[in-house]
Amino acid sequence: MIIPCGEVDRWLKSADVIVVGCGIAGVCAAIAAREAGAAALVLERSSGCSGSTAAAAGHFYLGGGTAVQIACGFHDDAQALADYLTAVASSPDEEKISAFAEGSAAHFAWLEARGVPFDRSYYPLKAVIQPGRECLIWTGNERVWPFRDQARPAPRGHKVAFDGLEGGGALALDHLAAHARTIGVEAVFDTKVDALVCEGDRIAPKFDGIAEALAAPDTQLRLFGKPEIVGKRRMGLALALGASIEEARAKARNAAAAVSTTP
Ligand SMILES: Cc1cc2nc3c(=O)[nH]c(=O)nc-3n(C[C@H](O)[C@H](O)[C@H](O)COP(=O)(O)OP(=O)(O)OC[C@H]3O[C@@H](n4cnc5c(N)ncnc54)[C@H](O)[C@@H]3O)c2cc1C
Repeated sequence: MIIPCGEVDRWLKSADVIVVGCGIAGVCAAIAAREAGAAALVLERSSGCSGSTAAAAGHFYLGGGTAVQIACGFHDDAQALADYLTAVASSPDEEKISAFAEGSAAHFAWLEARGVPFDRSYYPLKAVIQPGRECLIWTGNERVWPFRDQARPAPRGHKVAFDGLEGGGALALDHLAAHARTIGVEAVFDTKVDALVCEGDRIAPKFDGIAEALAAPDTQLRLFGKPEIVGKRRMGLALALGASIEEARAKARNAAAAVSTTP
């Protein structure tokens, strides 16, 4: 829901950056904003930092020469990581993969510097999640043909340091949330965001052709309402069911083609 700015009669809080949701993405965004000097406010509908992150095992897929990879004697670099992600993706987004690969070792250092604990150790056996505190593990198909011929393999699963199979996501989130509090990120819980306030004419583009796009049965749209796109990010998605993958893809393509935007 969009509320015109003129209809708001009082403001309870103000901030330079407002983040909706206090899972790991939200807490990291709020920390980054605060560390860049902004007053950051997180609004979370649950009673604490939560989301899927609280259920996650606590493996971070990172590489390119993280401190743990180096300490455990594995050579990895951004190119090998990008080559592997490109090889396994069905339609690789070069720009996104290269940004992720080039920043990956620094992302590891960023998390660790903000309190997420990682052991300098390697778990050599096959497991979905290693049972102990060992950090590094093979989590993908890096050593499997044909990928081993397309990208130099390296183990890249980094488990948060704790004994056990469950709770790593919650542990990482606890540390990041504690850091966020320390640096002055404000969080308000039990508060669901269900409207945006719009100053000026419009904050989202106008979408045309939606009825035509949804005319075929079992077709849905997810329109992100972005006023502009940067690089190859999507402005929306078309979802479709079909008797075969080809039919579903054709229906989704037709639905996407029917939608147009006016900025
Ligand atoms: C069992 C399980 C194990 C997993 N293990 C791993 C793993 O080992 N490694 C890995 O990389 N990934 C793993 N994942 C996936 C990973 O957990 C998610 O990709 C990640 O946590 C998503 O983080 P997020 O911050 O985007 O979303 P979430 O953690 O879901 O956070 C979103 C937050 O936004 C809040 N919110 C939503 N709407 C509103 C609103 N309108 N107003 C206010 N608040 C709102 C929600 O309450 C929630 O707290 C696992 C997932 C599951 C379920």
